Amino acid sequence: MYEDIALWHGECQKAVLSGKGRYMGMIYCGKHLLTGDGKTHLTDAAVVVNEAGKIQDVGTKADMVQKYPDEEVKDYGDVTLLPGLCDMHVHFGYYYSQPDQYNYDDYMIAYYAQEQAKTALSLGITTVRDLSSPHNLCKQLRLAGEKGYCRVPRIIHSDAGMCMTGGHGHDDGIEEVDGEWEIRKEIRKQIRDGADWVKILTSNRTSIPEFTQAELDAAVDESHRVGKKCAVHAGLQPALQMSIDAGFDTIEHGTFLTYDQVKQMAANGQAWVPTMTAYTVLYEFCKEKIEAGFDSGDRIAAKAIKDMAFFEPAYNAYKDNFKKFYDTGVTVCTGSDMVLYEAPPLPINRELELMVEYGITPIQAIETATSNPAKVLDLEDVMGQLKPGLEADMIVVKGNVAEDIKAVNNLVDVYMSGELVYESK
Ligand SMILES: [Zn+2]
Repeated sequence: MYEDIALWHGECQKAVLSGKGRYMGMIYCGKHLLTGDGKTHLTDAAVVVNEAGKIQDVGTKADMVQKYPDEEVKDYGDVTLLPGLCDMHVHFGYYYSQPDQYNYDDYMIAYYAQEQAKTALSLGITTVRDLSSPHNLCKQLRLAGEKGYCRVPRIIHSDAGMCMTGGHGHDDGIEEVDGEWEIRKEIRKQIRDGADWVKILTSNRTSIPEFTQAELDAAVDESHRVGKKCAVHAGLQPALQMSIDAGFDTIEHGTFLTYDQVKQMAANGQAWVPTMTAYTVLYEFCKEKIEAGFDSGDRIAAKAIKDMAFFEPAYNAYKDNFKKFYDTGVTVCTGSDMVLYEAPPLPINRELELMVEYGITPIQAIETATSNPAKVLDLEDVMGQLKPGLEADMIVVKGNVAEDIKAVNNLVDVYMSGELVYESK
């Protein structure tokens, strides 16, 4: 009966409802349509959504209206229709940067995560991969969504993730493990408890790698042995080469990757989730603090100076290399990874803007947030494109995204499996 709970959209209320509380089908039209495959841009286009919430057909408005004469038509006018976006690197339960951290017990963390989920939908994000949140949080949030207690995007998650004892993230709720068998055991535990992916962290702003090669190899072997993919947080050398050699499916950040390494990743089918915005925002934050001047007692500014030694070269590395690396053919996925207090949450729009600023086209940028993630998540038959047979996860934005990536900020409506889950009004 939970399927009966739906948000009704003004004009659509007139549509005939099926027994499950979905519309009997609808033709959505717009001046522009991006399928999400990285190349296709249709004009005067339409998407036909059937009563199961799946995409029935895609084509020109004229053809679709003629082919499905009984379906109701909703014409959005001068908009772009595109697949719901996927943020491949979020932390829905990351409350650690809140200044009143002490207030966050399990209930509060759940409310916080629910708010993140709501924010995601309000930005057109219909799928997320959460790469470590407090144990069981994402599993329960997904269940709450299934039960209709709250609206959440599709959630793929890695449960709490793992680092070495004292490693990166150990004070942010990441499980500390050492040695091949402890790693294998923790992977088994997290998968037992519902993890869809495995997440390992192995570098932290220094050239000292955290896990050993044998530990990384064991992590990948154990994940793949039980049919799960694995992601690694690695930003520096030699941790990056070790992670590539170990065979991780996605390299998170990869801040100081070399061109040859990215070519290796492309050849191995390892995807890159650069999360450039997180580094850019931190760079800007430090720069602002330093430029504002400070006295010797200002701990935040003192920290900013220390951090700047990392974030400035990081910012430059992304700016200088992104396009070169993209051109190797490596699969790039959009991830926001924003955990800084008071920074814009889930700034996937900014990540797409940076990609375009650094040299790729808006249509290519959209692919990194739609069909590329679907491929990496093995959800190509579910989401990631406006294509017959897939779930009708679709966003409607004012303007022409193919020409101006900033148009993704002008969100009108967001659909998941054909249901309206967010409207901007
Ligand atoms: Zn992260």
